[in-house]
Amino acid sequence: MTTIDRHETADVVIAGGRCAGSATAIGFARAGRRAIAVDRARFPSDTLSTHVNFPSAVAELQAVGALDRVLAYDPPRCTHGMVEADGARCLQRFASVDGIDYGICLPRPQLDMALVETAREAGAEVRERTSLEEVLWTGGRVSGVVVKESGGERVQIDCKLLVGADGRRSTVARLVGAERPYRGSRNERGCAFWYMDDPKAGTEWRERLIQLRSGDTHALIFPCPDDRVLCLFMGPAVDIPRFRADPDGMWEAMLDANPAVRERLGGATNLTKLRSTGDNVAFFRRSSGPGWALAGDAGHFKDPIIGQGIRDAVRFGRLLGEACAPVLDDPAAVDAAARAVEARRDKECNASYHWGNRESRVFGVSPIIQEALVDLDGQDPPLLLHMFDRIQTPHAVLNPIRGGKYALRALRRPGADRGAIVREALTELRIDKDVWREQLRPRFRSGRVTASERADYQWPPRTPGTKAVEPPADVAVADSAEPAAVTA
Ligand SMILES: Cc1cc2nc3c(=O)[nH]c(=O)nc-3n(C[C@H](O)[C@H](O)[C@H](O)COP(=O)(O)OP(=O)(O)OC[C@H]3O[C@@H](n4cnc5c(N)ncnc54)[C@H](O)[C@@H]3O)c2cc1C
Repeated sequence: MTTIDRHETADVVIAGGRCAGSATAIGFARAGRRAIAVDRARFPSDTLSTHVNFPSAVAELQAVGALDRVLAYDPPRCTHGMVEADGARCLQRFASVDGIDYGICLPRPQLDMALVETAREAGAEVRERTSLEEVLWTGGRVSGVVVKESGGERVQIDCKLLVGADGRRSTVARLVGAERPYRGSRNERGCAFWYMDDPKAGTEWRERLIQLRSGDTHALIFPCPDDRVLCLFMGPAVDIPRFRADPDGMWEAMLDANPAVRERLGGATNLTKLRSTGDNVAFFRRSSGPGWALAGDAGHFKDPIIGQGIRDAVRFGRLLGEACAPVLDDPAAVDAAARAVEARRDKECNASYHWGNRESRVFGVSPIIQEALVDLDGQDPPLLLHMFDRIQTPHAVLNPIRGGKYALRALRRPGADRGAIVREALTELRIDKDVWREQLRPRFRSGRVTASERADYQWPPRTPGTKAVEPPADVAVADSAEPAAVTA
């Protein structure tokens, strides 16, 4: 039996203090509730994640009250987004979301620190280097937790609600029996990224969040503060061991493979060590139950290629706090409120989940997508960027009418591979049909496999071509703002 060194009481305990954890704590603390967030990490510290935030994500940072702190780090305000596929280019200006018409890319140590400080200012306690170890139950309902502090002391905290905002490998999900997703999709792409001095400092490229596609690999390039820039390659996950074995060689190979990347980043200096992962299974978990809820990646993860995770973690963390705080003293009402937030999250994230699944397939540059990019280039309203900003869903922007038009144009190109184009169009139509059906008739926690999903995912996830290893007990923790070399 665990020895308890101290006994405390809170309204809500939150495991995890980054995007979802801080936002949840802010939602509760603003309503006057005693919220304690515990995190194994010490802040500021890094975690394995890039960090593009489109305007709709910046708007969420504004909604939790963290935007001034975020902007104090002076990230470039990117007013434009661009996708290019082997020369076919679409450059658009972001529309405004809640008064925000720019995206940013602030490294996680600073971004998360801004959130932690905002949570503290709102009245929440954020305890660093403190791990959640046990969940306590009373009458089939979570009634408290045991946490371990850095000095080894074990503290029992009784609470009315436990929120797991502890990331994809959530301890809370495991301890409440929700670890195994009820739906998910294997990701065929991996992530390999570096930071470097931006060779285009002082130019208009600093105002652009861009994606450059060539062959089967997408390069995502995002300006960071201090004239640094982040370059993330998302190619086949099976390539990740090669990136790890020969990072310098793979960097050169990536520049050779995509002239647009060389044009943007050729001559870049001061590269950090490579960081990489190939285990990005997308999933939904049961995210509410008697006395508990999951927020952020703990409950739902989708492919980073569409850059939506931080936005959703902050948004649904805040909404969870706001919905549960007023009814926290009524167990049935708080469980119902948490369930309602889970249902809302699933409904709002459904289209992005399918989009992420589509984009995480490994495919060569599509002539249909090239036609779409050429057609949408410079358009106002910026339909392409609306997808990243959740103003319109991808299946509404690239609907069967537009898709059909682009497919016909692709078919008319000299030398077109007509069979491949027709096959692609039919595959996308099948996915569209499933997505529309889920959108029109959402079924809570449905495990029905749809055409966008590759249900043969491995659980727990791991990078193809690597040995199964137990996940590290902690995320990488670094004190400096400069990301440490981390692989997962
Ligand atoms: C390679 C990669 C690139 C990405 N790029 C982007 C991007 O560009 N834009 C974007 O929007 N999203 C991106 N994402 C997604 C984004 O990282 C996540 O959606 C986001 O971090 C979710 O925040 P969170 O608070 O839910 O979880 P996390 O950020 O994972 O935080 C969880 C916290 O819980 C703590 N914790 C875990 N277990 C315990 C425990 N037992 N006790 C106490 N504390 C615990 C951890 O220390 C950690 O601090 C990317 C993800 C990956 C993997």
